[in-house]
Formats: sequence, structure tokens, C-alpha cells
Amino acid sequence: MKVCKFGGTSMADAGQISKVMDIVLADPARRMVVVSAPGKRNKGDTKVTDLLIALAEAALAKKDTTKPLKAVIDRYAAIAEGLDLGNEIVAEIRKDLKDRLASSKKDEGVFMDTMKAAGEDNSAKITAVAFRKRGVKCRYANPGDTGMILEGESGNATLVEESYRKLARTFADFEGIVVYPGFFGHRKDGTVATFPRGGSDITGSILAAALRADVYENFTDVDNVYPVDPRIVPEVDEGIDTMTYREMRELAYAGFGVFNDEAIAPAVQGRIPINVRNTNRPSEPGTMIVQSRRVMPGTVTGIACANGFANIIIDKFLMNRKIGFTRRVLDILEEEGVAYEHIPSGIDSISVLIKEAGVPLAKEKKVVARIKRELQPDSVLVTHDYGIVMVVGEGMAFSAGMLAKATGALAEHGINISMVNQGASEISFMLGIKSEDCISAVRALYNAFFNHHRQ
Ligand code: ADP
Ligand code: ASP
Ligand code: MG
Repeated sequence: MKVCKFGGTSMADAGQISKVMDIVLADPARRMVVVSAPGKRNKGDTKVTDLLIALAEAALAKKDTTKPLKAVIDRYAAIAEGLDLGNEIVAEIRKDLKDRLASSKKDEGVFMDTMKAAGEDNSAKITAVAFRKRGVKCRYANPGDTGMILEGESGNATLVEESYRKLARTFADFEGIVVYPGFFGHRKDGTVATFPRGGSDITGSILAAALRADVYENFTDVDNVYPVDPRIVPEVDEGIDTMTYREMRELAYAGFGVFNDEAIAPAVQGRIPINVRNTNRPSEPGTMIVQSRRVMPGTVTGIACANGFANIIIDKFLMNRKIGFTRRVLDILEEEGVAYEHIPSGIDSISVLIKEAGVPLAKEKKVVARIKRELQPDSVLVTHDYGIVMVVGEGMAFSAGMLAKATGALAEHGINISMVNQGASEISFMLGIKSEDCISAVRALYNAFFNHHRQ
């Protein structure tokens, strides 16, 4: 049995949903179909999720919701018309949206997630109707009724472990095709919660693990995972055939938007191979993401960059002799509820990288003040607009000269490296640079490691 997930561009309009159905029906093993909300139909278009966020914001601000509500309904009405599904499903979606709009706004986060979830929920309902119209045995499944239990922050929820058992029990022996909405689940108190953006990948991975699928097929709008983001290096032409889970995890974390980084863990836990494929070119084999693969020593698999970090650099002479110094820094972060991303260290210094978006400036100032007061360092300096570039590859382990090649390529382009961090696994290294240098850094590194024609 295969779990297939179709992303926003695959669900964007009637033509794309027809392709989705063709793909599913081409292989009888494709029985669990996870869908996103309709995405962009063209460059200037808006994703339904973003339309729903605008709608929820208007409702919270007590503004007139007629126009933003119509914008959402129009997307589904166009799909229903294009697939000749009749008006009943559109009326059902209109009622669903109005009910959600009328729901409690006491907890704004819960209200926002309830609205966001409508994108995938109605996408799944309309797709199930479209399958049935083709004479296929198919039903829509609701996450709340089938055991997708989440917890935690609105918009950033995580799975409750017992969900795996519940989902496995629900789908132990199901018939026909099930269309399952991605991106959201329910808390134990019944409230709706969503994963972070791009979270339909996570739903697919959870279901693949719970149902012990043979493969998790993740259909999107590119033939492969490429060694660099094709939006940064448009000339990248050779995709990756096979990569490991940990390579994907590191690259997804550092900016490969093609697969949500949190979607790796469930597949790893269930040892389910992931196959990233193109809805528009289903004959392409795509990229396999697996536990292990044969590697060529001295090769890089991918290069990614992420920005929006702040770097807190703490210096203290003889820090290496101050037992517990790092722990006390981490205690302060924990007490202030600040998550850190990395803590590269030197002999007399440590850096704490945090995501700027998650930490308000006032909180950052408080952390710095506490470090100064409680740890008496020689200096504490905060650099903003900080970016990281990750160079990742199983083939890098035990290979000399990889870091030298990378730093050389950046030096050639006048890009200053302010931090180097290599994990103990040696399958990646991270370079700290200014945010504004991220794109040129990826290009320079791509030319150094992949673009052999140039040399
Ligand atoms: P979906 O809506 O199907 O989930 P996404 O937009 O989330 O699709 O992800 C697909 C996009 O990811 C591609 O169109 C591409 O622009 C982008 N992307 C970023 N990095 C990579 C990469 N390394 N390889 C392929 N695509 C990438
Ligand atoms: N629709 C959601 C988003 O736009 C989730 C997803 O597509 O994966 O983020
Ligand atoms: Mg995505």
C-alpha cells in the first residue's frame, strides 16, 4: 500500500486535480491520498491557505468578511465547475466556512487554525466527490474522527504519540480509496490545531508510518529534489536520485522548501522510503529518500541556505576552565522560553544562534542582560540578519579538503564567513554569513561542487 500526498500546486485547479486522480488510479496500491489546500495556479496567484488567513484576520478585526470569504469560495466553485461536480458540494463548503467564521474567537490561535484547516478539509471533500463521480469507491476521512491527535501551540502543533496506534486501528482494514486532508488535526479537547506551514507533508509521513506503507509518495511540482533550490540556481538540471533521511533532514532544515523538515521523523521511525515526484510528469522516477545509500567519497549532495537568525556571541577568557558556563547560558535560555538552533563554540567563546522570528527583541535584550549580570562574561555581542549555509553529503564524511574548497569558493566571491560548525556526524558543515550574502554563497558553492563544465 502506498500513501500519496499531493501539494498545493497539484490541487490548484480542476485540471490539476484530474491529473491527481489519474495518478492515483494508475496504481491500485495508491489508496491513502493526502491532499493540500489548492495552491497557486500561476505566479501571481494566492494560495487558498493565504486567502483563509486573510479571511480569519478580517473576522478577528471585526471587518466585513464578504469579499475575502467570496475569494475562498470562488476557488472551490471553479474546481467544482471544472470537474462538473454540481452545486451541492459548493453549498456544503460555503456552509462549512460560515460555521467556522461563526465559531469562538476567544482563543485567536485556535480560531486562526480552524480557518486555516478549512483549506485542506474542503480540498479533501471535493476530491472525494470527484473520485466518486468517476465511479471510484472513495471516501473522505476526518482527522478528528480517525485519530490524528495533536498538541501544543496553534500553528505549530505536534503529534501525540498515541495517534500512530489510533490511526493504525482506524485504517487496519479499509476498502477503496481514502482522501485525507493534510496540515491539521485535533487536540484532545476537540479544538483544531495545524502543523507549521507546509505541514501537509507531515500528515502524509505520519499516515505512511502508522499504516506501514511500502512507500510515501510526495507529489509536487518538480521532477526531483535538486542539489540546490532551483529558484536560487535556475540552471540546475541534474536532480538527486537517492538521498538519505539525514541528508534531507539537514537540507530541509536549512531551506529546501520542497519537503517539510518535520516530515522526516515519522518516515524514519517507520522506516518508510519517501519518493518525491512530479504531478505534472508522473513518468519521472523522482527522488528516493531512504535510510542508507552507497556513497562516493568526496561528494556533496546538496547546498541550502536559511536566513533570519540572530547570533549571540559570548566571550570569556578561560571559558574552558569555567565548569558549567555553557549550561548556565542554556538555563537562562530555557527559563526565558527561548529555543536555540545551534551553539557553536570556541575555546573562550560560544555563539548561540536563535531564530529572529521566534524571539521578540525585548526578550532577546532580557536574555543578554541576564547573561551579562549572572555570568559576567568579557563581552556579549548580538549580530542580526545572520544567515547559515549548509553543505551536506554522506560522501563528505572522512573526506579531506571539502571545507577548504567551500571556504575558498566563498573567499573568491568576497563573502566573509563568521562561523564554521561541523557536526560530529561529519555529513555536513554549516557556515555563518550575512543574510544578504546567502544567495551568492549558494551560487558560489554550487559552482565549486557541481558545475564541472565551468572548470
Ligand atoms: P507543494 O505545494 O507541492 O508542497 P512546495 O512549494 O512546498 O510544493 O515545494 C516545491 C517547491 O520547492 C519547488 O517548486 C521548488 O521551487 C522548491 N524547492 C526548494 N528547494 C528545492 C530543491 N532543492 N529541489 C527542488 N525543489 C526545491
Ligand atoms: N496549505 C498549507 C500551507 O500552505 C499546508 C501545505 O500545503 O502543506 O502551508
Ligand atoms: Mg510543500
